[in-house]
Amino acid sequence: MTTVHVNDHKTRYLDRPYGRVNRNKLKTKLMESCVSNGVKFHKARVWKVNHEEFDSSIVCDDGYEIKASLIVDASGFGSTFVEYDKSRNHGYQIAHGILAEVESHPFDLDKMLLMDWRDSHLGNEPELRFGNSKTPTFLYAMPFDSNLVFLEETSLVSRPVLSYMEVKKRMVARLRHMGIRVKRVLEDEKCLIPMGGPLPRIPQSVMAVGGTSGIVHPSTGYMVARTMALAPVLAGAIVDCLGSTRMVRGRPLHRRVWNELWPLERRRVREFYSFGMETLLKLDLNGTRSFFDAFFDLNPYYWHGFLSSRLSLGELAMLSLSLFGHASNSSKLDLVTKCPVPLVKMMGHLALETI
Ligand SMILES: Cc1cc2nc3c(=O)[nH]c(=O)nc-3n(C[C@H](O)[C@H](O)[C@H](O)COP(=O)(O)OP(=O)(O)OC[C@H]3O[C@@H](n4cnc5c(N)ncnc54)[C@H](O)[C@@H]3O)c2cc1C
Repeated sequence: MTTVHVNDHKTRYLDRPYGRVNRNKLKTKLMESCVSNGVKFHKARVWKVNHEEFDSSIVCDDGYEIKASLIVDASGFGSTFVEYDKSRNHGYQIAHGILAEVESHPFDLDKMLLMDWRDSHLGNEPELRFGNSKTPTFLYAMPFDSNLVFLEETSLVSRPVLSYMEVKKRMVARLRHMGIRVKRVLEDEKCLIPMGGPLPRIPQSVMAVGGTSGIVHPSTGYMVARTMALAPVLAGAIVDCLGSTRMVRGRPLHRRVWNELWPLERRRVREFYSFGMETLLKLDLNGTRSFFDAFFDLNPYYWHGFLSSRLSLGELAMLSLSLFGHASNSSKLDLVTKCPVPLVKMMGHLALETI
């Protein structure tokens, strides 16, 4: 089960399981699968990508050049090989996380704490409390046993990005207030995820996958599960085009693979999620609390689907209406007064996508 502390007086229990990915095991499994399928590796940094009409090539920092029918760029958000024709106005998720051995902790071992929006721990820290009331952060906690817990203080989305030091200070204040004494930090992580912003130009000669392809969920920052689900779809399209019977190359190939990753419906749905991000950016602590209170009040089909990018555009429209219906009066006022600009932008983008 999952817990959400909306504020100091209200807690929600959700019937939804979460797990933590073991990165080493996942990577090993994926690499083994590559090896058993005859993938060849060349370890180097890519410097340059060149395109001819029917094939492309990469030049590596060791001078090695590799020719290919299709280059798939999985080099992350900072890639310089994928092109955009609009300015990249990301929001950012920033978080500080630790896997820690602790003397004790107050979390139920059978529950994951998805969001703790309480702020009573900042009672003696007026500056931190004021900052948190404007750009809130929440605690995310996954207990593994009574002495081992993963803790992460997260700013869901901010623009400009909230300072990492600020996030850390808030986490220290929170742990102190909860009486959690850290004995040993086993792993720590600084999380900075660009979210939303425009999609890359579609199509283009380099195919993108992962962070550089716009797959990151603009309202939650999730990407890993989504990429794993879409990878076989994309691979299927590539095999279809490059297989010996079809021999689709050049522009038709690029069009086909980009459209497989980003068919029109999925692009429209992403516009909606980006609207979600723009809305979250406008909410302060109280607005955010009311928003999530109404969100988790929805039929689970909708909020499960929203968090895991499984809803159609029609279902997202139903979700919005239902969310508005479940919202408190102050939240309704927030949505009506703060969201017209993002709403108009989304409608404009949807209209352009249709053209
Ligand atoms: C601390 C943290 C926690 C997170 N938690 C979650 C979570 O719970 N759920 C979730 O879905 N997402 C999470 N994310 C986000 C997720 O990890 C990223 O969205 C994801 O890693 C992006 O994957 P990627 O493969 O596109 O890029 P990256 O993981 O950045 O990998 C890119 C790779 O390409 C290599 N590379 C870069 N340039 C070149 C080049 N020129 N030549 C050759 N290689 C190059 C890099 O060295 C790197 O190995 C988290 C991120 C962080 C930092």
